[in-house]
Amino acid sequence: MDAEQLRECAHKMVDFIADYYKNIENFPVLSQVQPGYLRELLPDSAPSRPEPLQDVLDDVQEKIFPGVTHWQSPEYFAYFPSNSSVAGFLGEMLSAGINMVGFSWITSPAATELEMIVLDWLAKALKLPDEFLSTGQGGGVIQGTASEAVLVVLLAARDKVLRRVGRDAIGKLVVYSSDQTHSALQKACKIGGIHPENCRVLKTDSSTEYALSPELLSEAISQDVASGSIPFFLCATVGTTSSTAVDPLPALGKIANSNGLWFHVDAAYAGSACICLEFRHYIDGVEEADSFNMNAHKWFLTNFDCSALWVKERSALIQSLSTNPEFLKNKASQDNMVVDYKDWQIPLGRRFRSLKLWMVLRLYGLENLRAYIRNHIELARKFEELIKLDQRFEVVAPRNFSLVCFRLLPTQNDVECANRLNRKLLDAVNSTGELFISHTVLSDKYVLRFAVGAPLTEERHVVAAWKMIQEKASALLMNS
Ligand code: PLP
Repeated sequence: MDAEQLRECAHKMVDFIADYYKNIENFPVLSQVQPGYLRELLPDSAPSRPEPLQDVLDDVQEKIFPGVTHWQSPEYFAYFPSNSSVAGFLGEMLSAGINMVGFSWITSPAATELEMIVLDWLAKALKLPDEFLSTGQGGGVIQGTASEAVLVVLLAARDKVLRRVGRDAIGKLVVYSSDQTHSALQKACKIGGIHPENCRVLKTDSSTEYALSPELLSEAISQDVASGSIPFFLCATVGTTSSTAVDPLPALGKIANSNGLWFHVDAAYAGSACICLEFRHYIDGVEEADSFNMNAHKWFLTNFDCSALWVKERSALIQSLSTNPEFLKNKASQDNMVVDYKDWQIPLGRRFRSLKLWMVLRLYGLENLRAYIRNHIELARKFEELIKLDQRFEVVAPRNFSLVCFRLLPTQNDVECANRLNRKLLDAVNSTGELFISHTVLSDKYVLRFAVGAPLTEERHVVAAWKMIQEKASALLMNS
């Protein structure tokens, strides 16, 4: 690493990225390229001689950017957001600069200790119960994604119950969730060796606003216990992916606790909103949970990846995931004086991710972060109001946070026809490249999702997006 070369090249790169942000509205939000487009533009093999940075940047401009979907565009309203910010960006830069691999405390004490401190800060901002703080038996850890978070707690819960009932009972273990739970749980069950038939996916519908019903859960657990199965894990969601439904944590938690289930709360997207007092009630009942997860990389101005996971009983994670090879032994670890995060996650190596979260918390402060969240929720509320003024559309599910689920109403009462119409509307809107929205299916209805949450989005973008959706709908209705 030549420091002067770094200075020169990194300045150039920062200028390039700053210009990218400045001009981001000029790009089609959703990349419009065809599969395989890049192979035709790049050579078959790596260059044998060094090439100038400028040539690479020119290629990024000409060949890479057309294949980029611009998640930071203010016209990005698809899936959930993936926030970038100046603070998050600087934290990533610093982490890349230091570039240590912090698997054990000894490999960079600051990395482990900052992660513990910053996750305690965030836990306090979310008013999580003290048992989740690192000062007791629990603590927080940064995972790459919510999928890794649910996987590690599922493994911890599985091994905890198997230590009691014997490893041969793995085929009897049962997991509970709703049909709105993210597919990450399904993947965790596959990896964790949970038999597919033992994954109870409980039905939701509009009568519970797509939230998991405690009565259905109780019934399912009773039936499983009666037939000799072993219920062991419940995953509830605050802010489901399809519609931001909120599962009733207090009631579900009581059932989980009285039946000895590990209770995991997935608040990957909506957790960020719970730093605001007026939205904190959505996680009331988290006191009953064994683990809680929110993705700071979604809606908390922290660049991807940064998924915060808290557990009440860190020893459960460690018993499942720790290894102790000779080549990693050191005094601090052997004397049990430190946290070694390698034992709280799947991989050994880990990045210095707490730096960017620390920088976000320090450079913005909780008050600004709250204002940021509130602004998006207000923009989503305005979008919802606009929909309600147009009788050709309906809002399909309650808007709890900054996601609006809506659809164009069919001209005749025919579900398939309505679904086709909305599919066409989605394609018509997204193929313009002017905005990007996504879809889901709720109660067999094809539904459009409009998720506000990109840092650059302003009211004018939301209003323009709605106008374009209306125009495309008018054209479709005229031709149908
Ligand atoms: N849980 C919820 C509620 C989500 O919305 C998502 C993704 O959007 C996930 C889990 C999976 O997130 P990740 O990509 O961090 O694994």
